[in-house]
Amino acid sequence: MKLAEQKVWDVLIIGGGPAGLSAATVLARSRRSVAIIDEGRQRNLRSHGLHNYITRDGILPADFLDLVHEEIKQYPVSFFQGRALSVTRSEDQFSVSCADGNNFISKRLLLATGVSDQIPEVAGMKELWGKSIFHCPFCDGFECKEQHVGLYAQQLNGYGMALALKHIARKLTLFTDGGTYLRLAQKQKLEQQGIEVITKRIRKLLLDKGQLQGLELEDGRTVDCTALFTHHGISTNRSLLDQLGCRSTKKGAAITNRHQQTNVDGVYVAGDASIDMHFVVVAAAEGVKAAVAIHNDLLEKQYAEVLKYR
Ligand SMILES: Cc1cc2nc3c(=O)[nH]c(=O)nc-3n(C[C@H](O)[C@H](O)[C@H](O)COP(=O)(O)OP(=O)(O)OC[C@H]3O[C@@H](n4cnc5c(N)ncnc54)[C@H](O)[C@@H]3O)c2cc1C
Repeated sequence: MKLAEQKVWDVLIIGGGPAGLSAATVLARSRRSVAIIDEGRQRNLRSHGLHNYITRDGILPADFLDLVHEEIKQYPVSFFQGRALSVTRSEDQFSVSCADGNNFISKRLLLATGVSDQIPEVAGMKELWGKSIFHCPFCDGFECKEQHVGLYAQQLNGYGMALALKHIARKLTLFTDGGTYLRLAQKQKLEQQGIEVITKRIRKLLLDKGQLQGLELEDGRTVDCTALFTHHGISTNRSLLDQLGCRSTKKGAAITNRHQQTNVDGVYVAGDASIDMHFVVVAAAEGVKAAVAIHNDLLEKQYAEVLKYR
């Protein structure tokens, strides 16, 4: 028999990124029994440094997670490494099964499962991801301010992002890699702003010592650039959300109220998997909001009889 089978946790958190860890801290400090199931693939792990999180500017994401784990040790939070595969809801309980056969039961469920980036299939992009290939001007733009920056927009048109990057970088070139999403009027507007638009396909990335130096096009022309942003799609890690019947936007983000509660009773979503912006600080804040709402919800249930006489 698996160890975890017998216990009914107050809260089960799936996902141990900033959203899940932050919620766990608040819940454990409110004396709730909390377990986190985490596969350990936090979205920004390959990044060269975390920005826009005050007091931790530039910290490696892995070091950031180590700090949180060190902090959380003082509270009774239980960690289980693994992938949650399926979830069912019955009465007021959730049952979650993991790939390794472990099964968990809880009164409330917080999904903090994040999103997955669909990194374009250009050779070398995955290797340079988070080092000289980025997706977010707010997260990594400032570090490229003196550089000739490329924007790769094959699947989406990249118009707005090109203007945002032009504001930050010394020079910007937009590569569509054969994509045709940019309208002629948009192309002209970009060119008026000094942004070159290159529609030719990209043959390969040019690297030196593991750093991007430029791109080679299908006609053999090379374009120097030392940082490349991609305007690509993401997919929400939503299998569990779907199994529970949680509502989501067209793009797949879970729809919650302002306390991170979904349309399914007892199910909360925080972090990138939910509808708001994708930042560590936002994920952490949503974790806090979900934790407070869950704690209050459990309190109401605990003291239902008493509260009747308020
Ligand atoms: C390259 C890059 C750089 C970035 N830089 C910055 C930055 O500088 N500043 C900033 O604020 N933000 C940055 N971000 C965004 C930031 O990474 C996210 O906003 C943040 O990680 C969201 O936290 P989260 O807890 O929602 O999800 P995540 O951190 O992605 O954590 C989700 C966790 O859930 C786990 N999981 C998913 N499904 C399951 C399952 N079924 N069972 C078990 N575990 C599961 C995953 O393995 C993962 O460990 C960056 C993102 C990228 C890709």
